[in-house]
Amino acid sequence: MIKRIIPLMLSCLLLIGCAQRGANEPAQQTVFAMDTVMSLSVYDGARSDALRDAESELSRLDALLDRGAEGSAVHELNTAGAVHSEELAALLTAAAQIARATGGAFDPTIAPVLALWGFGPGGGNYRVPAEDELAAALSAVGMGRVIIDGADISLPQGVQIDLGGIAKGYAGARVRDIFAEHGVTSAIIDLGGDVCLLGGKSDGSPWRVAVRDPADSESFLGVLEARDRFIVTSGVYERYFEENGVRYHHIIDPATGYPAASGLVSVSVVCADGPWADALATAVSVLGTQRALALREQLRETLPFEFIALTDGGTVYYTDGLAETFAPNSESGYDYALLS
Ligand code: AMP
Ligand code: MG
Repeated sequence: MIKRIIPLMLSCLLLIGCAQRGANEPAQQTVFAMDTVMSLSVYDGARSDALRDAESELSRLDALLDRGAEGSAVHELNTAGAVHSEELAALLTAAAQIARATGGAFDPTIAPVLALWGFGPGGGNYRVPAEDELAAALSAVGMGRVIIDGADISLPQGVQIDLGGIAKGYAGARVRDIFAEHGVTSAIIDLGGDVCLLGGKSDGSPWRVAVRDPADSESFLGVLEARDRFIVTSGVYERYFEENGVRYHHIIDPATGYPAASGLVSVSVVCADGPWADALATAVSVLGTQRALALREQLRETLPFEFIALTDGGTVYYTDGLAETFAPNSESGYDYALLS
């Protein structure tokens, strides 16, 4: 279900300097998909063909990956226990690889636990589950249980999949590939605050992206310069409920079954790969800065990534690979610290 809607300034990332004097104006398209407002800006190549094909691709992916939508491959997998889809098999294979790399901090089979908390499809029935319910749901968690044989995927009894932590990164990568096929070398794909930068600006300089302050929509944590990168943000403020004065959010630590308690409020991951950027943002939210640094070290050769993380104590940590490209906002009121 995609419809064109009036462009709204809903993005988690403000884009700075896209409409500079002298820079050519982009062809733009706003798309509503994956429960979010997406904004596509294309600066060169076959711009209108690129936008048209990207829009239908986003609609196709929504219909493939939305576990709440009857007829989607994920819905079929969760309800029938099996589905045949080459594309879903490839995405689940990548997800299993990320689950292994993160020690299970990112794991799409967390779905039954999400459902207990009321963060399942439809949602709304929020409640704090009992310990024995959580233990039972956790016993079905683990990407290792998902059986992938070519394009045939099957789930053992009780295992359920939720791709909410990786779908937008995958969608961003697909749109980027479609743009490239249309000769686009300069574009911004903003999937509701999760951004994919294609190339740099028309004048050859890098894009400048302001990382939003989750506590103040008028402010930002800093400005990041980048090209050919995904910048994906996970935040515990995005979905939550309160019970007896305690806040419970939607990023679950698969080690405990409880909302992640890493002390991180918002995590932006910078990475060249879309699905990894998205899944790593979720994983870093679970792991916290120290374990995330160890993960960065472990992936240094294969999937290098950097991150910017805001703690509940008001410190913005950013990794040393961003030392030259991330400029802290001295007026944000936060403390800043470089991590290495
Ligand atoms: P994101 O905004 O990318 O961090 O994704 C958050 C969504 O991912 C949640 O709304 C859940 O659907 C799902 N999710 C929550 N916790 C996890 C986890 N530990 N691993 C994988 N997916 C998760
Ligand atoms: Mg994610």
